[in-house]
Amino acid sequence: MAQHFDYIALGAGSGGIASANRAAMRGAKVLIIEAQHVGGTCVNVGCVPKKVMWYGAHVAEAMKLYAKDYGFDVTINQFDWNTLVNNREAYIERIHQAYGRGFASNNVTLINGFGQFVNNNTIEVNGEQYTADHILVATGGAPTLPDIPGAEYGIDSNGFFELREQPKRVAVVGAGYIAVELAGVLHALGSDTHLLVRKHAPLRNFDPMLTDALVEAMATDGPTLHPQSTPKQVVKNADNSLTVELENGQSLTVDTLIWAIGRSPATGNIGLENTDVTLDNKGYVITDEQQNTTAKGIYCVGDIMQGGVELTPVAVKAGRLLSERLFGDMPDAKMDYSLIPTVVFSHPAIGTMGLTEPEAVAQYGEANVKVYTSGFTSMYTAVTAHRQACKMKLICAGDNEVVVGIHGIGFGMDEILQGFGVAMKMGATKAQFDAVVAIHPTGAEEFVTLR
Ligand code: NDP
Repeated sequence: MAQHFDYIALGAGSGGIASANRAAMRGAKVLIIEAQHVGGTCVNVGCVPKKVMWYGAHVAEAMKLYAKDYGFDVTINQFDWNTLVNNREAYIERIHQAYGRGFASNNVTLINGFGQFVNNNTIEVNGEQYTADHILVATGGAPTLPDIPGAEYGIDSNGFFELREQPKRVAVVGAGYIAVELAGVLHALGSDTHLLVRKHAPLRNFDPMLTDALVEAMATDGPTLHPQSTPKQVVKNADNSLTVELENGQSLTVDTLIWAIGRSPATGNIGLENTDVTLDNKGYVITDEQQNTTAKGIYCVGDIMQGGVELTPVAVKAGRLLSERLFGDMPDAKMDYSLIPTVVFSHPAIGTMGLTEPEAVAQYGEANVKVYTSGFTSMYTAVTAHRQACKMKLICAGDNEVVVGIHGIGFGMDEILQGFGVAMKMGATKAQFDAVVAIHPTGAEEFVTLR
């Protein structure tokens, strides 16, 4: 006899965990199923270990670029990649344990195993069947590899987190968050790093001010950027190095090659064909605005959702709201996918929310858009030979200048954006930004003093 639950979450990543715990807090009997490590991409091979590496890169930059002009005579005898990796993994293990304690205190049952749908309300895992009135699919995504000869010689972002030795020469291929973040970290930690993008720049769909400033920052101190560089073949050499041959006729030889060209939804082998769930032609799950799939009683959040936003906090919020709707007293709860703030942990960090300038002009017309910008040297680097630029932009629309876009690149931008996000979500105008007294001296104050 199949054991019955009120709610099953398939996938214990950020979305599944948040939704399972919230459902249990609202009184549901909950099962969560995970094939790999609890925490999913974010905790194990994404946001969390990446941020630790980014902080490691900060320490390196502080010593290499800034310490001397602050009066410190620093000699770096060695950098031990494994110390950083081991401490990072120990931290992640503590997070796993915290998840375990959370499940225990909420009475959520965790099963480690690969779950597959048998039908709309039954999942089989480790040879046993479990039924539920409501099932959440939150299986996340996996890195995509290109379909070219020799692609298998490269690693993906999961492989980056498995590296137990620092690569001496490394190529990162891709133009999104992951490529920019990994290339920046590797460069700062001392690898000879090359970032290969197939168009003119990385993050080319971000506000042009951010794209241009990032390219400038990379030229001053960053990975070597190779624009218009699409790999067509990878050859493994006798000494185990890899030669990446490009469509433009050039080639590059490195020790490690990292693909960061996007991610694909992990929906292929979880038995969805046995349900009424509909996938699009790329394998994403089609949902309505309340996370319902086309199968009654099956829901979806996170990176596998068609038209979703591949960010941990988005999956978390959507998962919690779904549980409030199903088991709490919020029958109309639904995720608001508009105006989502996001940070790229580049060097320097990028924070962005709302419309880019070209998007605002297209939406409101040039005459109805007013743009305020500021550029300055980060004060942290003002007394040092190595200067780091900060650039900020507010995009306002209409006569009352509602802030419809906020963008910044510079020291501290990763921490600055969240509060301004609240203001934007409330529909703040430029005048309301200006009405706030600046906090001096900070980078954030620029956003309330723009002229
Ligand atoms: P993205 O989809 O963001 O970017 C990948 C980019 O690589 C594409 O946009 C494309 O850019 C380029 N590309 C695609 N195919 C190829 C190819 N065959 N050869 C060369 N380049 C190619 O994927 P990521 O893997 O960087 O990140 C996935 C998602 O994870 C992100 O969308 C983000 O939401 C999330 N994430 C968030 C982070 C954060 O919040 N800080 C950190 C990391 C990830 P182009 O068309 O310009 O060539």
